[in-house]
Amino acid sequence: MKRYSAFAIAREAFRHHAGWERAWRSPEPKSEYDVIIVGAGGHGLATAYYLGKNFGITNVAVIEKGWLGGGNTGRNTTIIRSNYLQDPSAAIYEKARSLYETMSQDLNYNVMFSPRGVMMLAQTQAEIRGYQRTAHANNLQGVTTEFITPERVKELCPIIELGGPRYPVLGALWQPRGGTARHDAVAWGYARACSDMGMDIIQQCEVTGIDQSRGKVTGVQTTKGAIKTKKLAIIVAGNSGDLAKMGGFRLPVESISLQALVSEPIKPCMDVVIMANTVHGYMSQSDKGEMVIGGGTDGYNNFTQRGSYHHLEETVRALIETFPMVSRLKMLRHWGGIIDITGDRSPIISKTPLGNCFINCGWGTGGFKAIPGSGWAMAELVAGGEPRELASAFGLERYQEGRFIDESVAAGVAH
Ligand SMILES: Cc1cc2nc3c(=O)[nH]c(=O)nc-3n(C[C@H](O)[C@H](O)[C@H](O)COP(=O)(O)OP(=O)(O)OC[C@H]3O[C@@H](n4cnc5c(N)ncnc54)[C@H](O)[C@@H]3O)c2cc1C
Repeated sequence: MKRYSAFAIAREAFRHHAGWERAWRSPEPKSEYDVIIVGAGGHGLATAYYLGKNFGITNVAVIEKGWLGGGNTGRNTTIIRSNYLQDPSAAIYEKARSLYETMSQDLNYNVMFSPRGVMMLAQTQAEIRGYQRTAHANNLQGVTTEFITPERVKELCPIIELGGPRYPVLGALWQPRGGTARHDAVAWGYARACSDMGMDIIQQCEVTGIDQSRGKVTGVQTTKGAIKTKKLAIIVAGNSGDLAKMGGFRLPVESISLQALVSEPIKPCMDVVIMANTVHGYMSQSDKGEMVIGGGTDGYNNFTQRGSYHHLEETVRALIETFPMVSRLKMLRHWGGIIDITGDRSPIISKTPLGNCFINCGWGTGGFKAIPGSGWAMAELVAGGEPRELASAFGLERYQEGRFIDESVAAGVAH
């Protein structure tokens, strides 16, 4: 694969951009692989990438029923942060955040990581106490955050209204190295690197069944035929329950739609990411100038990948109190994605009751930020058969043993 560089851009400019190669191959499936990964979202592709990079395992297929990155990975609002309360969460999200810092160089693909700073507003007394506690916990965990005053909030974000009638801004949890990245570039960058290592990314191919013998996985049935595999990794976010059913086991997850919208592009007015969890709204400005706005989940379980007006009205109404300027914006588009939520709002990176079959799911409203860390930990699990340090607390057995990793404050709504 030819590397992207400033020199390559200059060279192609002189020959009408006719010399660029396809970013990844589109092969037909082989009859057998060492590892099959179901789901070409960020987590599936990152797992494939670290299997190759860290363990030299490259006889891998990533199978995708639609187009790569077309699930939640291409539908999220791109917030990256690691200010979680519990130690196992802070460890994996901070690993991910630190991998984002060098991802463009590692993948030779510009993922537009922008560590512009993320702020979670405290708008009730309970939130002040909660975020002050998180700031203390983060400092012990080696994650740099601080609790800041309303004056500092205004300094960092002049368009904010501090004195809202219902929920005034009382402070914020501030992570200066949090930020955003271009979500589909993350999927494309990993896909290109995986394809370059000889892995097969097979799009428009749905997994419809899981073959097993004597308690172990032997292959998958797909819309492009049967494919054998020694190991299977299921990484399909909102479809996890369906795949688990094919494998003959159940998961403690619910599927539910989460919605977002963008405004028309406007001049730069906000260079931080702000999350207002009490009123269920958050906002950042994309490089194109659109205000990227997200809200909470739908009030009922569903599989709809689309937005709905009543939900958007709720989100915008809540946000206008803190950002009155939003009332003068026109909406450009809105959409939804199917996320998978666990009871303790923490992910599952785990062996399953089916031998050689592993699952990575439950990232809920906030898994974009985790992609590189999750891929790293999942590759360790798939390669060695047992979780290493990053994933050890996230096994399925925690629901039987009552060892929950309660992140409902850090991840119940927020992204
Ligand atoms: C509106 C919205 C806003 C969000 N905002 C943020 C945010 O700001 N920050 C953040 O960190 N997170 C955010 N998230 C969450 C984040 O997007 C997800 O946690 C993350 O993208 C999950 O990635 P994934 O790779 O596990 O899943 P996905 O990207 O959904 O990939 C799973 C893939 O599996 C495929 N698949 C499913 N079934 C099959 C099958 N049978 N055969 C083959 N392929 C199959 C799907 O087509 C899909 O492409 C948001 C999500 C949404 C919907």
